[in-house]
Amino acid sequence: MDDLTQALTAGNRRALSRAITLIESTRPDHRAQGTALLAALPRREALRIGLSGTPGVGKSTFIEAFGKMLTGRGLKVAVLAVDPSSARSGGSILGDKTRMEMLARDPLAFIRPSPSRAELGGVARRTRETIRLCEAAGFDVVLVETVGVGQSETLVADMTDLFVLLLAPAGGDELQGVKRGIMEIADLILINKADGDLRDTAMRTVADYAGALRLLRRRPQDPPGFPKALPVSAIAVQGLDTAWDDMVHLNDWRQAQGHFRARRAEQARQWFLAELRAGLLARLDQPEMRARLRETGDSVARGDEDPAAAAARMLDWLGAGSEPPPR
Ligand code: GDP
Repeated sequence: MDDLTQALTAGNRRALSRAITLIESTRPDHRAQGTALLAALPRREALRIGLSGTPGVGKSTFIEAFGKMLTGRGLKVAVLAVDPSSARSGGSILGDKTRMEMLARDPLAFIRPSPSRAELGGVARRTRETIRLCEAAGFDVVLVETVGVGQSETLVADMTDLFVLLLAPAGGDELQGVKRGIMEIADLILINKADGDLRDTAMRTVADYAGALRLLRRRPQDPPGFPKALPVSAIAVQGLDTAWDDMVHLNDWRQAQGHFRARRAEQARQWFLAELRAGLLARLDQPEMRARLRETGDSVARGDEDPAAAAARMLDWLGAGSEPPPR
């Protein structure tokens, strides 16, 4: 374990992969080792960027071009994925290893597909831990990608410093049915494919979103002009520098104003509570506990015991963590 910690903090990619495999494991001894590893890691910080967009909008193309631009500036970039479709079906949209081939070969980049066969909660937990591993391994930027399905955007926004929404040009003036909630968590809205025949439509879409963003209440954690909508072309590699400059500007401002620290602190608090909740639920799922829950459920169903009183009794037992109290 000490060797792994050392190799990981020295930036060894094989060690990073091994560490991620360890924390993705569901074996209790692996989990314990993973928890110990995380606790022993030095505190380093990357800029954590969440990126969301529906399939086909150009996420892979964008991340490849954006990632190459960042590594071209000497920055180390890690790309992680949170994929709710893989959580449900075991087949991953974002897990395809042939995506982002150029970036995958870049010595300054590291790409890890979404863990499959796990519930969204489990994927979230592993992604949080994987972000920490990447930070300890010395990455400067950690990009967390997700398809905009269900709760995954909020989940990713809750574990990152900046949230970027990637959209395609849309004809007409409808706002592509983007939910207000997503608009409220987005720091940057990038309209991709602003090239060739699509350029004019893309510029109109940018104007539509810029207008919509101006109608939102100004957030105290934003400098003037944010959140912003910008045109980009992942294929023509246009607008990516501007988008990055805006991200850096926003982050510098939040660092200086204390918002960055406050957000990380709140995220750490929420992470702790999520772990605790997951741990308690896992204890409810143990065989002896399941039998006891069934018994108590039966007694409640028969009307022998009040539901709230029965729940309180079970909670006391869990809290004591010792012998079940007598009925
Ligand atoms: P993802 O499903 O969001 O990862 O999208 P992909 O990156 O796989 O891209 C989907 C399609 O859009 C592909 O055919 C890309 O070539 C195309 N595409 C991606 N970025 C651009 C762009 O900037 N301009 C144009 N014209 N097409 C793009």
